[in-house]
Amino acid sequence: MAGRNLNLNYVGGQWIPASTGKISQSINPADLNDVVGDFQASNAADAEGAVGAAADALRVWGSMSALARGGHLLAAADYLNQNTERYAQAITRECGKAIVEARGEVGRAVALLQYFGVEGSNPVGDVVPSVDPNILLYTKRVPTGVVSLITPWNFPLAIPIWKMAPALVYGNTIVLKPASATPYLGVLIAEMWEAVGLPPGVFNLVTGSGGAVGDALVGSDGVAAVSFTGSTPIGMGIAASAASRGVKFQLEMGGKNPVIVMPDADLEQAAQVTVDGAMKYSGQKCTATSRAIVIGNVIEDFTNLVVEKTEALAIGPGADADSVVVPVIDEASRQNIVASVERGVSDGGNVLTGGGVPSGGSYDGGTYVEPTVLSKVSPNDFVACEEIFGPVLGIIPAADIDDAIGIANDVRYGLSAGIFTRNLNAAMQFADRIEAGIVKVNGETAGVEPQVPFGGMKSSSSGSREQGKAAIEFFTETKTIYVNQSAS
Ligand code: NAP
Repeated sequence: MAGRNLNLNYVGGQWIPASTGKISQSINPADLNDVVGDFQASNAADAEGAVGAAADALRVWGSMSALARGGHLLAAADYLNQNTERYAQAITRECGKAIVEARGEVGRAVALLQYFGVEGSNPVGDVVPSVDPNILLYTKRVPTGVVSLITPWNFPLAIPIWKMAPALVYGNTIVLKPASATPYLGVLIAEMWEAVGLPPGVFNLVTGSGGAVGDALVGSDGVAAVSFTGSTPIGMGIAASAASRGVKFQLEMGGKNPVIVMPDADLEQAAQVTVDGAMKYSGQKCTATSRAIVIGNVIEDFTNLVVEKTEALAIGPGADADSVVVPVIDEASRQNIVASVERGVSDGGNVLTGGGVPSGGSYDGGTYVEPTVLSKVSPNDFVACEEIFGPVLGIIPAADIDDAIGIANDVRYGLSAGIFTRNLNAAMQFADRIEAGIVKVNGETAGVEPQVPFGGMKSSSSGSREQGKAAIEFFTETKTIYVNQSAS
């Protein structure tokens, strides 16, 4: 361990070790010999300690002016802006993301902090006429309480920020458990709050496994709400546990995002945007494109263009400015992706490009997978129904728009979906009938803006929405107040 950075939990404004005395490592997926750092392998008692610190801070923080709370967020936005390169390099090193996209992620976090910083000066209720003229009748949003934030590794800065920015501005205190693969970004988020002087206990960080820390943060009596982003199976377990205790929960989960290619589409644009959506960051976005449903006889031209553009993609470490397809998060994920492609072939799919693991040079030191395009995929095949979370695109033929929308909707997920067409009627029909929380017309399924609601339908979400004006719904409770002014 000598010479390596030992990172601590951040609880009640103090940097402290876990009670377990154990550490776990974070590894750079582009270079498996590069240990990013040693982090606290905390347990349920450590999680409880952080919940206690958050509960102690709640009264003061919750009763502070929302404008003052927003000021902390705006200071954090400035801090991140000034430290963009340090945070972006850390993202690239810890989760493998291409540096261009990592800088974009920091920019997005800055935008979220700015948006919710300003939100501190917006109304938190309504005055409503009463049937009795003596009654002042109004609603007021109040903080929910201590909120657990449980987050995935793929956006290790933006996702925690898009939860904590609204949580904080509306007066809650929080405990963050980052993914085990990306604890360093959790530590850097704690450093940000410490640097801008957030009062002790308002933000707390506990690193450790989902089974130990995550489970405790869902089950703790001191927690009023749980906001989770991650895979659907883990999310469903959290929902069951939270619901059984009457605790509020918010889940954003997996996707199997389709694009529909109409016969009148600009095929060049459709192919480029589809490849970007499927292959950038090696398909490791919940909103990544994983199915292209192509109508009519343009399928051959579209497929050729997709294969050509996929083969032109640079595969390499995120630190190289040209890399588009980067290593996937770890060896288990790589094996899962390769096995999924094999299953696609045994189901009758045809690998047109990719399907394997690149080798030689720096490829041998990281967890790379070739970007893969499969044709002859049937709607019920494994690769057409299940989230693979890798650079894998299945091309599925369809007869007409009804058939295509039917195929698109015939999965349990409903996060993001797109259509490529010049036909306004087709686009609007698609927008109305597709079962997805995010709809793109001639745009990439991935890529969203922070000032509008984000979330999915069906098994992609618990039905709540994050970001934009929607965020207030989860992070506050509404009180309805009747004031009788007739007393003499
Ligand atoms: P994951 O395995 O579900 O983990 C997500 C978080 O849950 C991690 O912090 C994990 O901790 C924790 N966790 C695991 N078991 C737990 C338990 N029993 N109780 C409480 N917490 C537990 O997901 P991931 O692999 O990190 O991320 C990829 C998935 O996230 C994909 O399915 C992707 O689609 C989804 N995602 C969705 C969105 C969206 O907004 N819809 C955005 C990004 C990603 P450990 O890391 O310690 O296991």
